[in-house]
Amino acid sequence: MTNLKEFIDTYKDYPKKGIEFKDVLGIIQEPRIFKELILKMSSSQIIKNAEAIISIDARGFIFGSAISLEASKPMIVARKPGKLPGELVEKNYSLEYGENRLSIQKKALQKYRSYAIVDDLLATGGTVNCVSKILESNNKEVVGVLVVVELIKLEGKLKLNCPIESSITF
Ligand code: AMP
Repeated sequence: MTNLKEFIDTYKDYPKKGIEFKDVLGIIQEPRIFKELILKMSSSQIIKNAEAIISIDARGFIFGSAISLEASKPMIVARKPGKLPGELVEKNYSLEYGENRLSIQKKALQKYRSYAIVDDLLATGGTVNCVSKILESNNKEVVGVLVVVELIKLEGKLKLNCPIESSITF
């Protein structure tokens, strides 16, 4: 497997002082690398064992939808405020550089029993934990979490009590 780290640029003090922002968008500028990553993520047991994928606004959608196609699994989305119509289930959360709220369409959520959560990056784990809590409070099984990048020092894994797989660690 190619060393994916070389496709991730680091921006110091973005979007706030003290944050080292890891930019995953370099990966999708290299279709061969993107494909290699998607094939690897799609073959994960977490994806195989889940009935559906839930991907997180917004960079999570890039990877989640490609995995959904490759693995032939349905995908639903967790979005930031003001982006989804219909009846929603919502929860506030904190992430490495702020606070926000995520919403899921009730109608979509009700369709499937078990989910694999997909996002671009695991930092403090607040974002993924928010989705996991929404799923659990709606009696859904969280099979596991797949992220492209994991920032090990921030110990996001400690917030979650399900399997977590990352393809690149810093
Ligand atoms: P957290 O909730 O702290 O795990 O933050 C994860 C979410 O925030 C992901 O959806 C990322 O897109 C974004 N994020 C947090 N920290 C960073 C970072 N250092 N570099 C890039 N994205 C980040």
